Amino acid sequence: MTVEVTLLGTGSPLPSADRAGPSTLVRAGGRTYLFDAGRAVGLRLAAMGVAAPQLTAILLTHLHSDHITDLNDMITGRWVMSPGPNPLPIIGPGHTSEVVDGILAMLGPDIGYRLAHHEDLTEGPALEVTESAGGVVIDDPDSGVRIIAAPTDHRPVEPTLGYRIECERRVVVIGGDGVPCAGLDELCAGADVYVQTVLREDLVRQIPFQRFLDTIDYHSTVLQAADTAERNGVRRLVLTHQVPTPAADAAAEWIELAASVFSGEVIWGDDLVTVTV
Ligand SMILES: [Zn+2]
Ligand SMILES: [Zn+2]
Repeated sequence: MTVEVTLLGTGSPLPSADRAGPSTLVRAGGRTYLFDAGRAVGLRLAAMGVAAPQLTAILLTHLHSDHITDLNDMITGRWVMSPGPNPLPIIGPGHTSEVVDGILAMLGPDIGYRLAHHEDLTEGPALEVTESAGGVVIDDPDSGVRIIAAPTDHRPVEPTLGYRIECERRVVVIGGDGVPCAGLDELCAGADVYVQTVLREDLVRQIPFQRFLDTIDYHSTVLQAADTAERNGVRRLVLTHQVPTPAADAAAEWIELAASVFSGEVIWGDDLVTVTV
């Protein structure tokens, strides 16, 4: 059995014609997990032959807007397209319930229209929201999948989580945004695949706009991500959600930078790149 990791969206918060917002699909043990739900996640899921009703759970790394822009689309798609009750588990850091309640409030009129229109729909979207501060968030012996969360450091964004997905000795880590920290090290120990948001400090420093310069403080640079991977014996490092948006031919340069620190394989993240373990 294999574990399949697909980068659904690799874009930065600035809209890009080629990159959807941050989201990653992990398929393991016959289960389908979505990590974050950025811009156009539904389109990229469709490209993978997956629709919202088929998701086993959505797991959020944090509540920055670019990671949740299309969570409402997943909630509505799940509700309307499922032929019967199909509660959607949503796991995330503290404040996730508040955000989900806000989304349901925003969808209030639409939920009303659909309840009035479809006789067989008697209730609004069914959601099972779990806020985690770290620890095992999914333990599913039937599929052999275990998912462990740990606090990460993306301050001043707090709290935030990274995830370690284990399935039959295969290990995938979704690091999220954030800088190196003990929680991330724990998740990454001996991982087969480590997916990390990365920033190029040298390039960001060339953009004379303070709000952009501020992003340097709380994202792993390519070198920091490579160092985390090397320190923890990771096999493959996947560079995603790149900041600033890279030029079309920039991959080699980013990979070379990571490879100067990390001795494993470096994989460049474009939308729909799939890594199989
Ligand atoms: Zn963020
Ligand atoms: Zn982000």
